[in-house]
Amino acid sequence: PPDVEALGRASWTLLHSITAAYPTRPSPSLQAETRAFLGAFARLYPCWSCGDDFGRWMRAEGGANAPRVASRDEFGRWMCEAHNAVNGKLGKERFDCERWEERWRTGWGD
Ligand code: FAD
Repeated sequence: PPDVEALGRASWTLLHSITAAYPTRPSPSLQAETRAFLGAFARLYPCWSCGDDFGRWMRAEGGANAPRVASRDEFGRWMCEAHNAVNGKLGKERFDCERWEERWRTGWGD
């Protein structure tokens, strides 16, 4: 399997970039496809223990971590929280989710 760190960086780039390009008002069918994508992503992710944990995290907390995909802002923040859950598990610093859009969509100010 590919290097878990390089795979992770590339995958977070893909996932956050998807949220950055997501519509502000997605159709119900796109929201359903997005939820299905995330479930399939967790099952197919080629670091099996990573994907298993990610899938478990999405189903945990009585549904509180379930994907929120009703708008770009909601989805971007949810992805940031998902990434922070992995950061926490790995002992990495939490990212300030107020800044997700600056990092992944509009660019840092300076
Ligand atoms: P990364 O965590 O890859 O982050 C890349 C960049 O994203 C950072 O430099 C920062 O600018 C930005 N960023 C950081 N946090 C956030 C955030 N919360 N929101 C928005 N942007 C942010 N690795 C393991 O060893 N074990 C695992 O179980 C594991 N599970 C994973 C599950 C998934 C779904 C994914 C996609 C990856 C997983 N990884 C796992 C990989 C791990 O998350 C990192 O990608 C890898 O360790 C490289 O880390 P990094 O420090 O280079 O930055």
